[in-house]
Amino acid sequence: MTGSYWKKSKHKFIGITIAASLTACAVKPTTISQLQTNQNNNETQAANVTANKEKIQAKAPLKSEKTDNNLVFYVHNKYQGKIVYQGKPANQEKVIALTIDDGPWEPTTSQMLDILKENNVKATFFWVGKAVKQNPEIAKRVVAEGHAIGNHTWNHPYKRMSPTTAKSEIEKTADIIYKTTGVKTSLFRPPGGYLNNGLAAYAKSQKYAVVMWSQTSADTDPRAKPQVFVKNVLRDAKPGGIVLMHDGGGDRSRTVTALPKMIAGLKQQGYRFVTVPELLSN
Ligand SMILES: [Zn+2]
Repeated sequence: MTGSYWKKSKHKFIGITIAASLTACAVKPTTISQLQTNQNNNETQAANVTANKEKIQAKAPLKSEKTDNNLVFYVHNKYQGKIVYQGKPANQEKVIALTIDDGPWEPTTSQMLDILKENNVKATFFWVGKAVKQNPEIAKRVVAEGHAIGNHTWNHPYKRMSPTTAKSEIEKTADIIYKTTGVKTSLFRPPGGYLNNGLAAYAKSQKYAVVMWSQTSADTDPRAKPQVFVKNVLRDAKPGGIVLMHDGGGDRSRTVTALPKMIAGLKQQGYRFVTVPELLSN
């Protein structure tokens, strides 16, 4: 695929993106199943100790919350309005979050969903609003399969913008995500990882966690082979890590090729996969 609505500006930033790869975007995921588990746990506790119901719920903040027609992805209070590069798992537990930016995008998003499902891995997708509008069915599938969602702006802009534009980029995207999938999210990732163009400032003002990344596959490098993406990820893996890769914004077939090997390699290193809301739940 050669068509990309932000390809032109993206090319200009490839060098910077690679140089700044350790500061790329990352998000915290929470899965529906875990959410439901939390809710069930809470409900059980509440049933057992009715008098303490409110206290219990207050003590156990949900990473996400499912009601009839919507799903909300949360992070712990301490991450709200903050820039986050990685989680801090208790006892340095080997948990890691895969984050996938710039979709929904076909055919790559569907291909990656198939791989994630085969491996029983939940990831976190940072969506571009314009892409959600163009690909609503695949967006619905991502949510239905239990992955977490973050906001990645409407147009994927890099340059400095007015506060009004920054607000519009994020709010329009939040609206299309909600209208398409019923999801509300407190995760935001700035395009290109740029923190000083007005987007992160607005996101922080709205208590989003500005999710960067602790390691990147560097899959935006147009020359690199898939095995290099795998090597990058396996080399830099660490407990609480947030891994950056892409399913949209261009031809991501190399990332699709690399993904099963990344997952296998991380599993071999002893990692368990979590979503960003899960990772940032404490
Ligand atoms: Zn992006």
